Amino acid sequence: MQSGGDHNRVVFECDDGRRFSFVEFWSLAGRIASVLSQQGMQRGDRVAVQVEKSVEALALFWACVRGGFVFLPLNTAYTPSEVEYFVGDATPRILISSPGAAVQLGHLDVECLTLDDRGGGSLSAMAGIAGEMDDAPTNWDDLAAILYTSGTTGRSKGAMLSHGNLASNALALIECWGMTSRDVLIHALPVYHTHGLFVATNTLLLAGGRMIFQRKFDARAVMAALPQATLLMGVPTFYTRLLQQADLTKAATQHMRLFISGSAPLLAETHRTFRERTGHAILERYGMTETSMNTSNPLLGERRPGTVGQALPHVEVRVVDAQTRTTMANEMDGMIEVKGPNLFKGYWNNSAKTAEDMTWDGWFITGDLGRFSNDGYLTISGRAKDLVITGGFNVYPKEIEERIDGLAGVLESAVIGLPHPDFGEAVTAVLTMKSNTAFDEATALAELRQSLAVYKLPKRLIVVEELPRNAMGKVQKALLRQTYQKLYLPV
Ligand code: AMP
Repeated sequence: MQSGGDHNRVVFECDDGRRFSFVEFWSLAGRIASVLSQQGMQRGDRVAVQVEKSVEALALFWACVRGGFVFLPLNTAYTPSEVEYFVGDATPRILISSPGAAVQLGHLDVECLTLDDRGGGSLSAMAGIAGEMDDAPTNWDDLAAILYTSGTTGRSKGAMLSHGNLASNALALIECWGMTSRDVLIHALPVYHTHGLFVATNTLLLAGGRMIFQRKFDARAVMAALPQATLLMGVPTFYTRLLQQADLTKAATQHMRLFISGSAPLLAETHRTFRERTGHAILERYGMTETSMNTSNPLLGERRPGTVGQALPHVEVRVVDAQTRTTMANEMDGMIEVKGPNLFKGYWNNSAKTAEDMTWDGWFITGDLGRFSNDGYLTISGRAKDLVITGGFNVYPKEIEERIDGLAGVLESAVIGLPHPDFGEAVTAVLTMKSNTAFDEATALAELRQSLAVYKLPKRLIVVEELPRNAMGKVQKALLRQTYQKLYLPV
């Protein structure tokens, strides 16, 4: 890989005090590649990795890039039985886990090595005395990684990503976000997901910038890093938590060039409040594990709240009628489809699902619903899978959520369908309130009735302290459905 800038400059500045120059990082990756090779890994073999965030964890990915191996990161929240499923499905040659988890995974039929959050463990011990492996010749089309998607229905699927998928996307993002070797990124995302692993890291490494590498998101640590940084890439929760900091001001963010958000919808209100407090318009972008990034609001030009902007360079995005596949007119909702060098190579071991999600002429059916404005901005209006069918009518949760979020005192809402003896599914809203605001269900319903057809009205509005979210800030609707599954059923 060619990185811009001086290769002896520090690239990673870690919150445990460690620093790595590009040369040190690259050499570490080469030595880890040697260890993997000594352990019998051949080109195309998988290494499954369930470890805490560290520079070594990222070097492991680059070891795979250099050695021609396939990196398979696993969410640290997965239980041993879930890891067993991934090991069975992907048949990695090696499994690397944190020393604590290694005991529980020892029974699996795979070679095990360890790595802790400060770079200790058997992998590093071996890499410390290994020489660097020569780079394996790899092609644009060779597999670099398999990332399991967070499945909401059934088991999660392994998205196969090639060197070309990752490189083309990193280059498109560098161009789109104007990244250079002068950029300093606050890296506070997990590194088992496409956002922290590829979007944040590949772009910075390729641009030759520096990362303030924090093991997890902590609003105070981010505030402390702002005066040295130029970029933050975060999920929406980062921004709502930053807004809770009294010292988030224009002065505190004056060194920053760009705040970027993705992986889940950023509330338009968060966008506006952040702008009022800091003067910065958060740049929202949209992507997914299978495609890396697809669209982005512009660096120069209007960053429009509630939209995810326009297609990235070399990426095509269209909105079609899900049945006829004809392109929808602007301002009309339909299925979002994507085409380009960023498209994954299919699902590991699951050609049937790959065929289901691809059109004959190479468009990936994202499962996200959305619409283009007349001037080309894409708005995501929900997931097709979230659709609620009540008494035979289709209800798109996003539409209802927008109305509920507009009610006085409401902070945010999630609309789900729950089993109902008469209607099949009942539209149900779970919502949170701004602090110190009271809520009256009957008054809220009366207000919603003025703008929503009766069949779209939630049968219940349930107030909770906080909506459940995963580490990427996505509201866990499956969990909400499970929690309230018996609400309308006879006991
Ligand atoms: P993942 O594969 O975990 O990255 O999840 C991808 C999904 O996250 C997409 O298909 C969208 O449903 C959602 N997503 C990502 N970015 C955004 C965004 N900016 N706004 C709304 N949804 C988003």
